[in-house]
Amino acid sequence: MAGTATVAQLVDWLHRFAASVAENQAYLTELDSAIGDADHGSNMTRGMNAVVEKAGDPSTVDALFRTVGMTLVSTVGGASGPLYGTFFLRIGTTAGAVGELDGAALSAALRAGLAGVIQRGNAAPGDKTMVDALTPALDALDAGLAAGDDLATAARAAADAAAKGRDATEPLVARKGRASYLGDRSAGHLDPGATSTALLFEALAAALAGAETA
Ligand code: ADP
Ligand code: MG
Repeated sequence: MAGTATVAQLVDWLHRFAASVAENQAYLTELDSAIGDADHGSNMTRGMNAVVEKAGDPSTVDALFRTVGMTLVSTVGGASGPLYGTFFLRIGTTAGAVGELDGAALSAALRAGLAGVIQRGNAAPGDKTMVDALTPALDALDAGLAAGDDLATAARAAADAAAKGRDATEPLVARKGRASYLGDRSAGHLDPGATSTALLFEALAAALAGAETA
């Protein structure tokens, strides 16, 4: 059981996520055009570009995620801005004014983020939302840490679980958000938010791949 995430690695996480959503902008928008209003790619790209501009070089985890969360809430309209914004704001307040997080602290912060998303959006697993990627990702992270895996290895498992969770949204009927207006016709498509959340955990695994073992 070893490895920490430094503030610099968490900044790198956000840079990688921003690059990934920009790269996948058209794809995310295509997914959202099938069951939503075709703006998820542009929403996330606009928001994460603003995050990269504002993130700077903070010395504490709470300062970083306060900026990230507030930037997303203020630059992204629609459901995903407040939801991702709340996710990051809760990560920051839970982590506190520290310069790095060990696995347990990172897990606790991410869990608080997920709780914030659920509190704000009221989605349960199986409702075909970003919660369907977040939940298995955090379960896999915790399972890895409990098994004694180092943080980088547990983060890799979390990314794989997020991707599986994303794939599992395809047959689901949406019960939250715009896609729920389609009723049964929402089935047969991946959820855009679960897809961007899978990118988020892929970026985390990449950022922590070089996590120092202590
Ligand atoms: P909007 O739906 O307002 O156009 P986006 O297209 O940017 O916003 O984001 C859509 C995504 O937001 C969905 O694919 C879903 O994953 C997520 N989402 C929507 N409503 C909720 C909710 N109540 N709880 C959790 N996630 C949600
Ligand atoms: Mg949309």
